[in-house]
Amino acid sequence: MIKGKTRKNTYRAIYRLLDRVSPMPFDCGSICGAACCMIDELDREPGLDMGMYLLPGEDKIHQKKDPWLSWESHSSQEYDFPPSFQGELFFLKCRGPALCKRALRPLQCRTFPLQPILLEPDEAVPETILYREAGCELALIYHNAPLPYACPLIESSARLNEDFLRATYLVWKHLIRDPLIRDWIRREKVDK
Ligand code: SF4
Ligand code: SF4
Repeated sequence: MIKGKTRKNTYRAIYRLLDRVSPMPFDCGSICGAACCMIDELDREPGLDMGMYLLPGEDKIHQKKDPWLSWESHSSQEYDFPPSFQGELFFLKCRGPALCKRALRPLQCRTFPLQPILLEPDEAVPETILYREAGCELALIYHNAPLPYACPLIESSARLNEDFLRATYLVWKHLIRDPLIRDWIRREKVDK
């Protein structure tokens, strides 16, 4: 399994920080039927392979026998990861809100619907940026890859809670110190 530099205790601290924030001042799952949680249901649709990757090392704080998550192992070569990724990554499928262990939600779930991007020094700043510290290469935008469901927050470009934006930014700012995670984020594309 691919091992990053980010330690177990760092992931624990990140989970604790993100436990205290949420995208909106209300439960946004109430306006869409928790569309982004329906991985288990959508996964049964032909052609859809729903789930989320754990970041390198994030698996250390999860129990593989825990029945609310199912685990797959994906080869980095087969699934188009950066060349620095050599080995296998964990791809998780959760079984929906009724069984969700909220304190153990993976990072990719906690930071949705945001997506981190890294800007080159001479790159024009996209208008779609939701949060960025002045002069910093890291920025947050709305998730811009195709989804098999509609997220009302993305669709309406909703104004997200400032503490959610700040906490998510802080988390990614720390995580990009890990060269593997940095390479992963660098591959993300921006729609300008
Ligand atoms: S799909 Fe969007 S609005 Fe619905 S629960 Fe997920 S983040 Fe919230
Ligand atoms: S981990 Fe929980 S909150 Fe996250 S997508 Fe799965 S069911 Fe939804």
